[in-house]
Amino acid sequence: MYEASFYSKLDKHQVQCLLCPRNCIIEEGKFGDCHARRNRNGILSSEVYARIAAMETDPIEKKPLYHFYPGSQITSIGTSGCNLHCNFCQNHSLSQVNNRKPAIPTKNIQPEQMSELVDTNTQSIGLAFTYNEPTVNYEYMLETARLVKMSGKKTVMVSNGYINPDPLHMLLEYIDAFNIDLKGFTNEFYRKYSKATLKPVLETIKRIAKSGNHLELTNLVIPMGNSDEETFEDMCKWIANETGKDTPLHLSRYFPRYESTQYPTPPELLFDLYDIARSYLNFVYLGNIATEIHSNTLCPKCGKTVVERTYYHISTKGLTTDGLCKNCGTKIFKHY
Ligand code: SF4
Repeated sequence: MYEASFYSKLDKHQVQCLLCPRNCIIEEGKFGDCHARRNRNGILSSEVYARIAAMETDPIEKKPLYHFYPGSQITSIGTSGCNLHCNFCQNHSLSQVNNRKPAIPTKNIQPEQMSELVDTNTQSIGLAFTYNEPTVNYEYMLETARLVKMSGKKTVMVSNGYINPDPLHMLLEYIDAFNIDLKGFTNEFYRKYSKATLKPVLETIKRIAKSGNHLELTNLVIPMGNSDEETFEDMCKWIANETGKDTPLHLSRYFPRYESTQYPTPPELLFDLYDIARSYLNFVYLGNIATEIHSNTLCPKCGKTVVERTYYHISTKGLTTDGLCKNCGTKIFKHY
């Protein structure tokens, strides 16, 4: 058993987890809503600590992070469980676990061992916590990220942003780059499709932006779900105002998965939303779709293409070696 951080004992039988905005009150022997934390004899235990269910070396663009060491590879790991329950989850076999489903096979890799694996992988710039929601594996992530950073490599968290301010604050010291999934821009959408609320996600995004750590955002566009143009435009305005117009926004094409039977996002819808987003933000990308130009990086000053992407192949011919636009000298990438 690995004792969780961020919880309080309410009485002999109940504990309250304070890691994410659900603040679950958990009875003796029961799991929290994420199914990753359990009350064992009045102690909150992380049930997924060091239990690695998926591990790959991926292109950093796959996270997606387009402005953080473009063209590099990163070791990527996931456990199981999630504190959101999106009916359209694109990775539900890892995220939506419960007592009624067979246990997922895992490998026990302690933080020291993981850090060493990353350190000796010369192809990899560091470690990304991804695949399922890393927040539910908070203690392992914090300790492993600390070790990885000590070895001089980079750390990444790909998250739904549903985390309380205090644990996030601690994490900011050890995670270099975040991709936060902003699933929609109404509370109604979060309630209906993810059984959650919007405000904590917006707070997380603002806090990361304020910290100065690298931040990119992803929005999975679901037809008839979160694709209303007015709401989408409000979201883009909010991003520009709160995190800055240089925040990269990834618009991802949805396909029916898990409990959702909605038809896939029509390409025309993505192109329309791309145009709206580009009128507020300098760096907008389409993902999960073959497109000639919508995944390239254009210099916001002179308009020249500085990075060309075809799936995960990238060409940085338009950039200088220190991340400036070759044509006009504008700084494009801080982390290059
Ligand atoms: S992390 Fe899990 S147990 Fe803790 S409050 Fe969130 S959903 Fe509940």
